Amino acid sequence: MTVPAAILHVPHSSSEVPADVRLQFLLDDKDLADELRLMTDWHTAELFDLPADEAVTVRFPVSRLVTDPERFADPEAERMEAVGMGAVYTKTSHGAPLRDKAEAAREREALLARYYRPHHAVLEAATAAALDAHGRCLIVDCHSFPSRPLPYEFKVSADRWSVIHRPAVCIGTDATLPPHAPFSHAGMHTPQWLRERAAEACAEMLGRWPDGGAPDPAFTADEATQEGPGKAVAGIAFDRPFAGALVPLPYLGSERRVHAVMIELRRDLYMDEGSGARLAGFAGGAAAVKAALRRLIA
Ligand SMILES: [Zn+2]
Repeated sequence: MTVPAAILHVPHSSSEVPADVRLQFLLDDKDLADELRLMTDWHTAELFDLPADEAVTVRFPVSRLVTDPERFADPEAERMEAVGMGAVYTKTSHGAPLRDKAEAAREREALLARYYRPHHAVLEAATAAALDAHGRCLIVDCHSFPSRPLPYEFKVSADRWSVIHRPAVCIGTDATLPPHAPFSHAGMHTPQWLRERAAEACAEMLGRWPDGGAPDPAFTADEATQEGPGKAVAGIAFDRPFAGALVPLPYLGSERRVHAVMIELRRDLYMDEGSGARLAGFAGGAAAVKAALRRLIA
C-alpha cells in the first residue's frame, strides 16, 4: 500500500484518564467529569475519519488532561504555561487547581515519556514517510471547540471580541503562532493556496451540513451588537477563537514541504454540549466533514 501524503492529527478526542494519573487530580469525580465534558473534543475521531489509504490518522489515546500533545514540551516556549495549561496541566479551564504544582513538576517527565513523546514520535515518523513517498506532507489538525468561551480563553487572548464570537468553523494557520513561540517563519506551513482551499472546503461542508448548518448561537448576535458593531458573525474564521496548526518540531520553521492547517468545528453543530450526545444529523455532518477532508487533501 502506498503511504498517503496526508495525516489527520486528532489530539483531543479521548476522555480516557488512566487510574494512576487520576490520583494526581485534585478534583472530585463530578468536577472531573465536568472538566472532561468541557475540554474534550468529543466525537472528533468519528467526525474526522478517512480510510487508511487516504490519510494516516494519528490519534492521541488519552485525555489532554493527562498531557496535552498540542503544547510545546519546552515550558519556555509554551505560552499556555502561564495559565497552568502547558503540556501538563495544573489548572482547569476555570482556573481551579487540577494538580498540585510540586507533584506536577515531579510527574512531568514520566507523563511526557509515557504519552507525549511516543505520540510525537508516531507523528514525526508519519510525516517523514509522507515526505519520502511524495516529497510533501499535509497535516490536518482536527479539533472542536465549545460554543461558549471558557474562562481561560479570556486570560490568554488580548482580544475579547475574538474570544466571544464563535464561528461555526475555525481554520487555524501557522501564520499566527503565539509571539512567545521560539520560531519566526512567517506562515511557511500554511501557504496561501492552502488557506484558500481550506476556506472553500469548509464553506462547502457547512453548505452540506444537516439543517442548513452553522446556526450561530443567539448570544453571539447580542454580543456582536454590544461589542463589535458592524462586524458580522461569519460561519468561518481564520485563527479565531483558536490560532495555529500543529507541525512536528523537527520540521517547524524549516521544512517548507510540510503543510499544516487546523480545522475546528463548533461543538453545537454536532452534539448536545450538556449531555455529550450526538445530534440527529451527526452522520450527515460526518459525511460533510469527510467530503471537506477529501477536497483538502486532493
Ligand atoms: Zn482541541
